[in-house]
Amino acid sequence: MKPMAMNLELEEAIARILDGATSVGTEEILLEEAYGRVVAEDVFSWMTHPPFERSPLDGYAYWAEALSAGPVKLKVVSEVPAGTWPERVLKPGEAARIFTGAPLPQGANCVVRQEDTQVDGEMVWVERPVLPGANVVPHGDEVKEGDMLVQGGERLTPPAVGLLAAMGIAKVKVFRKPRVGLFSTGSELMDVGEPLAPGKIYNSNSYTLRGLIQEAGCEAVSLPLVPDRLAETVRALQALEDVDVVITTGGASVGDYDLMPQALQEHGCEILFWKIKMKPGTPACVGKKDRRLYFALSGNPAAAMVTFELLARPALRKYAGLNHPESERFLVKMAGAFAKSGKQRRFLRARVSLRDGVVWADPGAAQGSGILKSMIGRHLLVDVPGGHGAVSEGETLEAYWIGEWEE
Ligand code: AMP
Ligand code: MG
Repeated sequence: MKPMAMNLELEEAIARILDGATSVGTEEILLEEAYGRVVAEDVFSWMTHPPFERSPLDGYAYWAEALSAGPVKLKVVSEVPAGTWPERVLKPGEAARIFTGAPLPQGANCVVRQEDTQVDGEMVWVERPVLPGANVVPHGDEVKEGDMLVQGGERLTPPAVGLLAAMGIAKVKVFRKPRVGLFSTGSELMDVGEPLAPGKIYNSNSYTLRGLIQEAGCEAVSLPLVPDRLAETVRALQALEDVDVVITTGGASVGDYDLMPQALQEHGCEILFWKIKMKPGTPACVGKKDRRLYFALSGNPAAAMVTFELLARPALRKYAGLNHPESERFLVKMAGAFAKSGKQRRFLRARVSLRDGVVWADPGAAQGSGILKSMIGRHLLVDVPGGHGAVSEGETLEAYWIGEWEE
């Protein structure tokens, strides 16, 4: 094998990965399909919203004088339901019956609540007159023409899509979803639905990763299982030339049957690094060919998930066009101890709970690198520095979310 960078610090590995990642092309889609997609360019408003002065409640619109103190008696000369345009201009002493969302008629500068009035034939009594401007939502209260609505590189949340809809915008330019090719290697693997043969186990990684990839807003393209044989592994890599990123599990370690680093090189990849100084997931290997990054992760299910989070997710964010591909670190309090100390940096999977306004991280008992069951529910990854010693309950440490956590 050609010489390659070995045993990197996680931060150095992430820097190399992000340096190698690019963003995919764009497409224009209907607003109704836009939720969760990443906007490709800044979107500015072509209109002012609301497009007219309007009433936020049911009542009567009239012209209030700044200083009038006593009750006023007004003649109701028109009615303005929502969705109509008030043609009738009010004169002094006149009022319009107005409903929530309706435009304010000319000649009115306030709305008094229906509950604060008394109707007497075609007249209405206002016991305590309101001030000019009361209960009037100004023209352009929410958005002015030319305001930025959403910024390129942001994921469209439900209110962001709603805001674009409020501006009448029917289509939006987004980054297309990155396509992520995926396969599991290992001669011991069988797929679900087959009877289990002696010495074999079912492939779970393809399923976990498929979910993680989709959750990251990407399209997963899975290949069938690949045995621990070089030619077949290279052929599988060749079958994934039309995707943006490739993720594989298994065979990234140093055993005789761990063929991924070699397969990546035979496929023509430049190896960005092999192995990182952390547990679990030490034997990750990342390569690059053309615009594609290749992540060969450990087959160990928990290690595969942890390295997906720490290495692959930031890259997928960059391919997806997001402005901030790096994962955010934050402080957590340990809700339990973890005795097994080590020289190596370790990421503890920990269940999240919120108590007294604090994020608590419970590492539980199960940190064995093969345990998927312990990761069901909301978890995060606690970063225990190398040589830290035992982690005690109540201690504050830094952590990463598992999954997306966007501002
Ligand atoms: P490897 O990374 O190939 O050394 O595999 C590490 C451990 O993970 C071994 O016990 C494998 O049997 C197991 N393993 C590998 N691939 C998978 C997979 N796709 N699903 C479940 N377990 C796996
Ligand atoms: Mg293996």
